[in-house]
Amino acid sequence: MKLITYTQNGRSGVAVLNDESDRWIDLTAAGIAPSMLTLVEAGPTGMRAVQSLLAAADAPILSPPFLTCAPIPVPRRNIFCVGKNYREHAVEFGRSGFDAAASDRDDVPEQPIVFSKATTSVIGPGELIPRHLDTSNSVDYEGELAVIIGRGGRAITRAEANAHIFGYTIINDVTAREAQKRHEQWLLGKSIDGFCPMGPTVVTADEIGDIGELQLITSVNDEVRQNASVRDLIFDVPTLIRTISAFITLLPGDIIATGTPAGVGIGFKPPRFLTAGDRVAVRIDPIGILENPVS
Ligand code: MG
Repeated sequence: MKLITYTQNGRSGVAVLNDESDRWIDLTAAGIAPSMLTLVEAGPTGMRAVQSLLAAADAPILSPPFLTCAPIPVPRRNIFCVGKNYREHAVEFGRSGFDAAASDRDDVPEQPIVFSKATTSVIGPGELIPRHLDTSNSVDYEGELAVIIGRGGRAITRAEANAHIFGYTIINDVTAREAQKRHEQWLLGKSIDGFCPMGPTVVTADEIGDIGELQLITSVNDEVRQNASVRDLIFDVPTLIRTISAFITLLPGDIIATGTPAGVGIGFKPPRFLTAGDRVAVRIDPIGILENPVS
């Protein structure tokens, strides 16, 4: 299933795509869920209600115009993120001079590097990335596949992990590189308001199947900068879920951004940071294209 969070006439809700009619069915108007988060929390019961509605002749249709928002506009807590999770990106970051932890040892981490982005950094498709909030002019993009947790839990094994996934979306892990370097940790430089574009849809796990077949393509002003297979992840999604849940109880609706491939702005010499008027588009089919203009 493909789901969106929308606003229309000052009202927000969640909708599902009817593949046959190519129309959005309004799950909020139907009384199934007021938001994506409540739909995720409803678990299999919620999804059965969605299936029944899709089969119903009188399902309420969400007709244009409406605005597509971040799927979870206000996450319950920080977004989990993974650093250096594609080999070539780990090398480009290590060599860039912006990695405060860079050393002579191998750039590829032995264990997943987990950090987070503040909930207040989330914006939706089409919203302006407020580059001006970083006074060091070192704003960079990072296209990433993000996992949305369905069933929560702790000490989840790799074998159990897939059963805990609700679906997938796209995140642009926008980063102020100078802040990332200067403060020797990643929270501040990655948590600036508006630095977490998310969307445009959530595709449920059953519909994606093998995420290794997904291709991630990031463009700046139509110039392709990142083009990688999600199969190249160093630590795959079950490993990330096992690692995080070994320490922290995962909750329904938690979001894990899985890391970015090579081709970010600091991979170039000199670095190619985002500038006013740029447009960044992260594409992962079938989730769609997450495009945002830059202030
Ligand atoms: Mg990242």
